[in-house]
Amino acid sequence: EVICEAKNLVKHYPLHGTGFGSRAGVVRAVEDVSFSIARREVFALVGESGCGKSTLGRLLLRLEEPSSGHVFFEGKDLESLSAREIFQFRRRAQIIYQDPYSALNPRKKIGQLIEEPLVIHRWGSAAERREKVADLLHRVGLRPDHAERYPHEFSGGQRQRIVIARALALNPIFLVADEPVSALDVSIQAQVINLLEELQEQMKLTYLFISHDLRVVQHMAHRIGVMYLGRLVETGPKEAFFQEP
Ligand code: ADP
Ligand code: ADP
Repeated sequence: EVICEAKNLVKHYPLHGTGFGSRAGVVRAVEDVSFSIARREVFALVGESGCGKSTLGRLLLRLEEPSSGHVFFEGKDLESLSAREIFQFRRRAQIIYQDPYSALNPRKKIGQLIEEPLVIHRWGSAAERREKVADLLHRVGLRPDHAERYPHEFSGGQRQRIVIARALALNPIFLVADEPVSALDVSIQAQVINLLEELQEQMKLTYLFISHDLRVVQHMAHRIGVMYLGRLVETGPKEAFFQEP
């Protein structure tokens, strides 16, 4: 069952200043990309910096509009959704970014940060939300009393756990993880990857996992797509990319 499908997606940005690598004054960030992700699949999108991975991730979540082409989520063309339906779509599809330092408002407590999406979507009573926050903290390996602390009291790896807890608050089915461990110490990266892998199984999630580093996705990925200069040049099962010698 297909959860998310891109059909002939194109995103061109106008070129400002004296850039290079462009033709006709545009940056061809995404160029005619088609693929789909099945329910509970981990689709890893790899490729070197600047090849269009983040742009593609943002297009799939309608954080940007494509220049042309379509995105279907659970069979519905995102372009055809009303504002109300897009609001509901945002419960089902979440994104986490690379930098856990800029992702969390330093003046808000952890509990408040995780509760925010629940408040915005009018989920539950205050007591139910408090319970949900405690459950989410537990799921990502933090303690209930951490809810009363501020972001600066946490390390990069812990902050990324908080970001993940917030992304999962509304029980999404689809998560775009855009270089989720690239800003973390190498010693911490495996812990956060393991957490994402556990959560994917426990919460029956579907992932688009973006990374410039094939090694990061090696264990978790089911399928791999390689981007090069805006195009998806190769896709296949992980086994095709990591053959035994
Ligand atoms: P990646 O995630 O693979 O590093 P990006 O999707 O961030 O690649 O970028 C692809 C190309 O599009 C790059 O040339 C980048 O500079 C350009 N780009 C990305 N976002 C914008 C934007 N908002 N405005 C203009 N150019 C952009
Ligand atoms: P990444 O490689 O992790 O995608 P970047 O540093 O390329 O991160 O981009 C960070 C942000 O800046 C993104 O939101 C991207 O859309 C935007 N961006 C990237 N390139 C450009 C550009 N040439 N012009 C304007 N915005 C850009």
